[in-house]
Amino acid sequence: MTRRTFLQTAAAATVAAASPRVQRNQVPWYRRAYRWGQTNITEKDPARYDIVWWRQQWKRTEVQAVIINAGGIVAYYPSRFPLHHQAEFLGGRDLFGELTTAAHEDGLFVMARMDSNRTADDFFRAHPDWFARDLNGQPYRAADKYIACINSAYYDDYLPDILREIIDRSHPDGFTDNSWAGMGREAICYCQNCERRFHDRAGGPLPRKADWDDRSYRDWIEWSYARRLEVWDLNNRVTRDAGGPDCIWAGMNSGSVTAQARSFRDLRQIAARASIMMLDHQRRDDDTGFQQNGDTGKRVHELLGWDKLAPESMAMYESGPGYYRVASKPAAEARMWMIAGIAGGIQPWWHYVGAYHEDRRMYRTPGPVMSWCKANEMYLVNRTPVATVGLAWSQRNTDFFGRDDPAERVDAPYTGLMHALVRARIPYVPVNLDDLDRDSTRLTTLVLPNIGAVSDAHVGAVRRFVQNGGSLVATGQTGMYDEWGDPRADFALADLYRCRRGVPAPPLRDAPRPPPQSQHTYLRLAPELRARVDGPRSGDEPPIVGERHPVLRGFDETDILAYGGTLSSLSTEAGVVVPLTFVPPFPTYPPETAWMREPRTTIPGLVLSEHDRARVAFMPADIDRRYAREHLPDHAQLLSNVVRWAAGDLPLAVEGPGLIDCHLYEQPGRLVLHLVNLTSEGTWRAPVDELIPVGPLRVRVPASMTRARVRLLIAPGEPRVRMEQGLAEFTIRSILDHEVAVLT
Ligand SMILES: [Zn+2]
Repeated sequence: MTRRTFLQTAAAATVAAASPRVQRNQVPWYRRAYRWGQTNITEKDPARYDIVWWRQQWKRTEVQAVIINAGGIVAYYPSRFPLHHQAEFLGGRDLFGELTTAAHEDGLFVMARMDSNRTADDFFRAHPDWFARDLNGQPYRAADKYIACINSAYYDDYLPDILREIIDRSHPDGFTDNSWAGMGREAICYCQNCERRFHDRAGGPLPRKADWDDRSYRDWIEWSYARRLEVWDLNNRVTRDAGGPDCIWAGMNSGSVTAQARSFRDLRQIAARASIMMLDHQRRDDDTGFQQNGDTGKRVHELLGWDKLAPESMAMYESGPGYYRVASKPAAEARMWMIAGIAGGIQPWWHYVGAYHEDRRMYRTPGPVMSWCKANEMYLVNRTPVATVGLAWSQRNTDFFGRDDPAERVDAPYTGLMHALVRARIPYVPVNLDDLDRDSTRLTTLVLPNIGAVSDAHVGAVRRFVQNGGSLVATGQTGMYDEWGDPRADFALADLYRCRRGVPAPPLRDAPRPPPQSQHTYLRLAPELRARVDGPRSGDEPPIVGERHPVLRGFDETDILAYGGTLSSLSTEAGVVVPLTFVPPFPTYPPETAWMREPRTTIPGLVLSEHDRARVAFMPADIDRRYAREHLPDHAQLLSNVVRWAAGDLPLAVEGPGLIDCHLYEQPGRLVLHLVNLTSEGTWRAPVDELIPVGPLRVRVPASMTRARVRLLIAPGEPRVRMEQGLAEFTIRSILDHEVAVLT
């Protein structure tokens, strides 16, 4: 042990004794920090930070951990590194140190906030070889700053020194970093470090441009991912060596897989390393809704483990669609994002930008939710979802199938299916395809929403799942490409779909586009199963022969469904059921032309088959994507009908009005059911201004899972439970924003 490391270890030991992170039990602090707060300050704030008031706000909002700006682009303490830019109004003050001391005195844990991937001109001139360069050797800029290259000594030496300095001075409990992953996929760095390191790894020069079909670009993508994991590991070694084993470095991650992919942050690999998952995912957008936060919570915990914590930064300022950093977000909007996340297992973390606000309404927003969380903490952590439907995803699919259009190819199909499941109140968990073998025993049904790029390993796992009796719902182009996005000769799962293309998939660069808006397409409900008719007759309808298939439930009075996509011919095996066929495009305008040129084809929109104990639904029609885009209720109904047909019995039924996001969990000896009321005039357009109660809601769970007692954590009272026909049933009279029912 060198003298330097001895001193660091000794200092860390002293700190550990004084810090609240070592307490009554041996559970590390990052497993006990359930409520978070962050005043994310500006360079002006050292001159006006009212620490006394903010300590009161910590107390009022019951936070247990705070995130305090330390260094990176801007230092909030007098750093000994002359190029570490100190806040313009710092005036020699050690604001970070003062706040850290105050928080520790108040019994709070402290994460030092870093924001580190760019610098001012003086730094660039001192270390020109630490900065990202374009193909012409010119530095990449972000506004007036220069972007540091992740393969340079800025990350290997300089930032670790800054981390050690902060630990030596102020002893935070851990670190976050907003920009730790460096420059994203949008640009390739050609600096000397990158040229050399990439050559060492790939044996050739850096790719000249982004080209998903080019071997060197693919290598560059994988190499870039690997470097982020190296940085993650390096930073953790640095902070733990200097600050003790629990002084973790937690970076920052997004709740969006596409955002993770853009910045080479492999959510699954990171979760495998992380002690806690710090999420920068501050608000909803109109396309994905509040329910996306519940989905994020479940996705992250499925990777991280349900015993670990996933706090999420939640904007208390107006953050979308307009962006007003110092104005209050409508309280109902901020509250619903918090509640939706908590239902998915996320820990709330209020976030303000700046330490002084003239719009003071935002200070009142988080308190009630945080107090409720404190009172009900035992029901909100260390629980596992009760769900038999898995909604599959894979970050590699986002990269190599999504390529330059992941929103359309990957996100929209996933979101459409997620929305359909939420609308139908079908409990589900997001399943990473790499974990399918692990997860397969608790699932009855796997849904593959347009997972175009699947590896042979994924194909093998899906096949094992079905062989073991699991049902499958696959949509769109699932399985048409390999893990690089190269066309396969046919669907990789053609034997399970019981249908074939007969020709290889087109290269992704030539992928067909949906028809223009001047054309419309439809799906025809299988004519031989046509139901009764009450309407005009054209004289050429086929005869009525029987009941329609259960996947067409609710469509008795129509023979067509609006579609909007395109389909091509498939050959199906004998014995499959094809309940929907394609009606090709015909004009929408002028109205005189809007008649079907080809009313009937044999092109399947949905192919159903039975395999021993398993059911397989292959839906070539991209109804999931269409639902995400157009919100036609028929599309949601069709998707949920198909999942119900595949899944059979479900562990939860909730009947009653409204859009309710349902999350069912198990803890030893009890069930915990979150019902989040998303019914509002602002459901599909932020912000929500008014919460509208809905009810009554009739809830049923299998009687085998409960013992007939229900307690509600929002509305006072214990609804009566009726045990009938193997089901436990109770009624919740009304829900304003959310309700949590504990069944024992
Ligand atoms: Zn570089």
